Amino acid sequence: MISIKNLTYGYYKNNKKYLLYNNFSADFNIGLTALTGASGSGKSTLISLIMGLAKPFEGEIIFNKNIKQVDFGYISQESELIPQLTAFENVYWKALLCFNENLAEKKSYDILEKCGIKDFKNKTDNLSGGEKQRVALARALVNDPFIIIGDEITAHLDKESTLVIINLLQELAVNKIIIIASHDSEVIKSCKNIIKI
Ligand code: ADP
Ligand code: MG
Repeated sequence: MISIKNLTYGYYKNNKKYLLYNNFSADFNIGLTALTGASGSGKSTLISLIMGLAKPFEGEIIFNKNIKQVDFGYISQESELIPQLTAFENVYWKALLCFNENLAEKKSYDILEKCGIKDFKNKTDNLSGGEKQRVALARALVNDPFIIIGDEITAHLDKESTLVIINLLQELAVNKIIIIASHDSEVIKSCKNIIKI
């Protein structure tokens, strides 16, 4: 479980303090959780805090797991693929950080298949927004992380591709903490838990 306790956080602009969170608490358990709220409400900021990229002004973010098990798979809003690599290679290089070559190749092909990427696995820089998003998802999933965090990951997908991704995430959520920041109603209605900020 990830437990956020009495979080206070914001930013300073022209010497003035703006709070995005004021004494905010929430728990993220195993399963699929939608993190929802209007644009600018602080969804991406909360993701940065959970991943340790920003520090709370006040309050705590607690993982009740051994640090060895706190591994993240993160999918950003902009996919951030390496444009010189093919779809397959973008996933495979990440797998190589975790597995030997044979296993890395097998894991990459398995996840490419699940994410519906096989047909364009050899494409490089001419990927559409939706294709990039699916490759970024496969890259995040290939080493089977315990915590998966996605930021607006279905923003560039049509309804059919969105459902493929949601079904996959639901399957994975049986034994993982999955947090998806989204205001896509398809995503929100398929999540077991909804946290609104
Ligand atoms: P969301 O992901 O829900 O759309 P964000 O977490 O990206 O929201 O941002 C929340 C709000 O805080 C936005 O309006 C953003 O412009 C503002 N913000 C966050 N950090 C800063 C900062 N360092 N300086 C100015 N504005 C910031
Ligand atoms: Mg955002």
